[in-house]
Amino acid sequence: MQQVTEQLTQRCRERLPSGTSQLRLAILPTNSREVTPLPTERRDDFLAGLRARMLTAAARREELAAQEETSEPPSPLPLPGERALLIQACTTCRGSCCQLGDTKAYLGVETLLRFLNQHPHQSAEEAVAVYESHLPEHSYDGSCVYHTKRGCGLPTELRSDTCNNFYCRGLRAFFGGEEGPTQQQGIALSLSGQEIVRAAMMDTGTPQAVALELKAPLQP
Ligand code: SF4
Ligand code: SF4
Repeated sequence: MQQVTEQLTQRCRERLPSGTSQLRLAILPTNSREVTPLPTERRDDFLAGLRARMLTAAARREELAAQEETSEPPSPLPLPGERALLIQACTTCRGSCCQLGDTKAYLGVETLLRFLNQHPHQSAEEAVAVYESHLPEHSYDGSCVYHTKRGCGLPTELRSDTCNNFYCRGLRAFFGGEEGPTQQQGIALSLSGQEIVRAAMMDTGTPQAVALELKAPLQP
């Protein structure tokens, strides 16, 4: 596995513009789906599931209030990587991991209970309306209902810990090791299989990643 990764990294480096050889690479997956209007069936499916789980969370809130307990606060991010680089990497990948969000968006009972505890005067139905208000008109076909061209349509504080704390394998490798967490620059490579679909220069000093022109693939 290590050898395969090294070979892939070497092949990617051969296609990068000169002057970038010192930069650390983030080898990432890619989302290749198209953006389409969010189908009514998927929207209804999401809302039906959300409503059922919200009612469960509301009942749990009452049980906890009777016992004078509260749910756990959100856990901290597992890695201290630069947030700007994280966003630039995920923008280059276009949210491959969000494809698994489907019509549940990782909004389990625990996340909904956290929301209800933060809004103690809101009913389950009012809380559902808050989540519904953030559903986009257009999203990636077949991906999470909140997955838009501009990223996640749901504000950070309404997302699950899974969404807020997730680092894919490529990001863990990029931010890992002694130097990783303090990286100020890097190159994001979004791959489909062995093919580079997108490449971008990441820099904490720029507002967004800058697309890189790649050299043509080497002939075998
Ligand atoms: S965490 Fe990884 S898979 Fe998910 S959007 Fe970011 S780069 Fe892509
Ligand atoms: S809620 Fe947002 S971050 Fe979570 S899977 Fe959906 S689009 Fe991705």
